[in-house]
Amino acid sequence: MPTTSSSALLQQFRPPFDATVVRLLREHGADIIGKVNCDEFGMGSLNVHSVHGPVVNPFQAASAASSTAWDERERRSAGGSSGGSATAVAAGMCYAALSTDTGGSTRLPASYCGVVGLKPSYGLLSRWGVISFADSLDCVGVMANSVDATRRVFGVLDVYDEQDPTSAPPETRQKAKEAARQSWSGASLSSLRIGVPQEYFPQELSTEVSGPVQRALKELQMRGATILPVSLPTTPYALSAYYVLSSAEASSNMARYDGVRYGTQIPSSSEDRFPNTAARYAVTRSVGFGSEVQRRILLGTYALSADAFDNYFLQAQRVRQLIKDDFNRVLRAVDVFSRDVPATTDGVDVLVHPSAMRTAPPLDFEADSSNSLDAYVQDVLTVPPSLAGLPALSVPLRRTADEWPVGISVVGQWGADDTVLRVGELIESMQ
Ligand code: GLN
Repeated sequence: MPTTSSSALLQQFRPPFDATVVRLLREHGADIIGKVNCDEFGMGSLNVHSVHGPVVNPFQAASAASSTAWDERERRSAGGSSGGSATAVAAGMCYAALSTDTGGSTRLPASYCGVVGLKPSYGLLSRWGVISFADSLDCVGVMANSVDATRRVFGVLDVYDEQDPTSAPPETRQKAKEAARQSWSGASLSSLRIGVPQEYFPQELSTEVSGPVQRALKELQMRGATILPVSLPTTPYALSAYYVLSSAEASSNMARYDGVRYGTQIPSSSEDRFPNTAARYAVTRSVGFGSEVQRRILLGTYALSADAFDNYFLQAQRVRQLIKDDFNRVLRAVDVFSRDVPATTDGVDVLVHPSAMRTAPPLDFEADSSNSLDAYVQDVLTVPPSLAGLPALSVPLRRTADEWPVGISVVGQWGADDTVLRVGELIESMQ
């Protein structure tokens, strides 16, 4: 099958081998039934930046179920960038789907489409054969209709891969699992400590989202879990830091698509009238990349330039460290990567918060919005765990058949993916 990253530049690209995650699925008996749409190179939150066109959210309110014409349905976004994966699962086309998650691309569409989406701890799932967006953040994600199905797929993929230099070695995985078990053994709900980060309930959070999330937290408390308000004070700076770092890394990753080393030359070489190679590259990249990818390349290249480096890239890296410190301060399990930080005895086992600021936005949200930054703001609740490399799971809160889906997120310490899945399962069982 072709791998296009939803880019005009890669329409002709057929990869010569399977990604490790695909190979593992096949080896365990999975049928790969197809590939799905996404935002070009994973850049976007609405799956509208794609050479294949936008993905329409398959959710249909029960009251509209009798209408057969597609046009009569309310056309909302499936979320991005892995909107095709969430849609394929939500529409019942497959048992599970793979996705990617650099800053929320698995959790956001999962939340908008009413399916489960797991962004595993950074470095657990191999990225060998997966097209890069921003290497220090990119994770392969898993989407499915239940937490159990998500766990089954994750379980098959959660292995060390020597082909991927960022793959966590077996000893590190083992250490983190033990640390997670010491924090919460999973034996009883009464020993589970859930932190609710106050910064994740800003004024702009839609009541359509906050209501069901608060009800779920109350229900967890009634079942015996301890719910504690916690503070992650660096949260407001996460979004800006994410866009500086991810764009900087993207600008370097996108350099290979020049129509010579990778990608289709535009126009084709037979009509080549260019005076030199640089002019040919420029036309290929200007025509081949969509507007969002071009914007990220320009921003990223600027952030890495000598004049801007200290003010943007370095500052963003500092913010990233502060975000990590915030999480380490509140989580009870030890961070296996920082030698000198002792486990916080009065910390929490997981954090629980809304996955998104609202339900699925209309498809023309970006064009229609009075503020051109609105589409970027949708990531505000998903980027902090990405910057810290932590596992994060979005679970749908089932609502009445006429209400659009709402996702709730569970975040844990690095390597505590199992804890996060268990808590996700508890939430799922309360519905
Ligand atoms: N929406 C974010 C972005 O546009 C995250 C995308 C992703 O996780 N791939 O960068």
